Amino acid sequence: MENSLPDIKSMNKTELTDFIKEKGFPAFRAKQIYDWMHVKLVKSISDMTNIPKDLRQYLENNTHWIAVENLACQESKRGDTKKFLFGLDDGNAIESVWMKYKHGNSVCISSQVGCRMGCTFCASTIGGLVRNLTPSEMLEQVYEITRATGERVSNIVVMGCGEPLDNFDTLIKFIDLITNADGLNISQRNITVSTCGLVPKIRQLADYELNITLAISLHACNDEKRRCTMPVARSYTIAEIMDACRYYFKKTGRRISFEYALIEGVNDTKEDWEGLSRLLKGENAHVNLIPVNPVKERDYRRTAPENVAVFQQMLEKNGINGTIRREMGADIDAACGQLRRSYEKGLKENTEKG
Ligand code: SAH
Repeated sequence: MENSLPDIKSMNKTELTDFIKEKGFPAFRAKQIYDWMHVKLVKSISDMTNIPKDLRQYLENNTHWIAVENLACQESKRGDTKKFLFGLDDGNAIESVWMKYKHGNSVCISSQVGCRMGCTFCASTIGGLVRNLTPSEMLEQVYEITRATGERVSNIVVMGCGEPLDNFDTLIKFIDLITNADGLNISQRNITVSTCGLVPKIRQLADYELNITLAISLHACNDEKRRCTMPVARSYTIAEIMDACRYYFKKTGRRISFEYALIEGVNDTKEDWEGLSRLLKGENAHVNLIPVNPVKERDYRRTAPENVAVFQQMLEKNGINGTIRREMGADIDAACGQLRRSYEKGLKENTEKG
């Protein structure tokens, strides 16, 4: 059931201050509450110990406290990747991944429950879009991982389940809250948002002139091929995406990342690296090559490591920067949406049995 009470964790400082004042409490309490939620990362209103009891009581009765429940955590053998399954208030579940790098800890978060983009290689999209997340549910993924690992998060990639630009206003609010100097104060430069290429939204994002990195899930070097795996390619051509990317670069000065998941025999041939090189020649671009994560429901195979290396060398030869994404958590259900799917399947089987 939908809870219509105000969600204070999704409010910025001005909104929270107005809310607190409106309810007849002193404005400075808003600053304290904000600090409890976004710096001290308390798990409940009752933990806000310097807030008077009447105000705590008011918040408990009249606001909707958003938290995520840590349902499961899978850890890679090397211990450098942890995948979390988080339960939401309405019984849905989402995934987030924690990755430890030399330069700091990175968290990959979800922006929606499910996804309506329909990419054929992606597990998140199999059941379609269930609902958008709220700003607080996006924040809580980072907060709960910080609590669970006891380590500071320095980088955020919005590359989990969902299409972030399909939940645009929430994404903007989330970035505003997580980069706030009175919150976790994460630098905009350390945030990456990945999109399958919603052209008007890329332009809209560019107009905010944020210092965040934009990643485009390209996965094919021409429209004909792209339409075979990515339905969004029927709405926007690669040429339109490239135009929007140039606009994004002009507005923000940020180089664009292009994601390219290598699928054996589908997009990993000579024709593909030649096409990709032609497409990206002279652009302010960087390519991330990722051997596709096989998804149980699909029969795609990943390109063999030696062929991934060849693909990268050929791009390099043509003057295109490409990095082979370090494979993290291959021994856990790493592909987007797979852990959530196994959880839901388990729930369904249990219900059927019981
Ligand atoms: N909707 C956004 C962000 C979520 S998907 C987007 O499309 O960019 C995050 C990234 O994982 C995208 O680049 C997506 O194409 C990629 N991805 C999805 N399924 C994958 C799989 N099975 N193997 C490798 N990458 C995958």
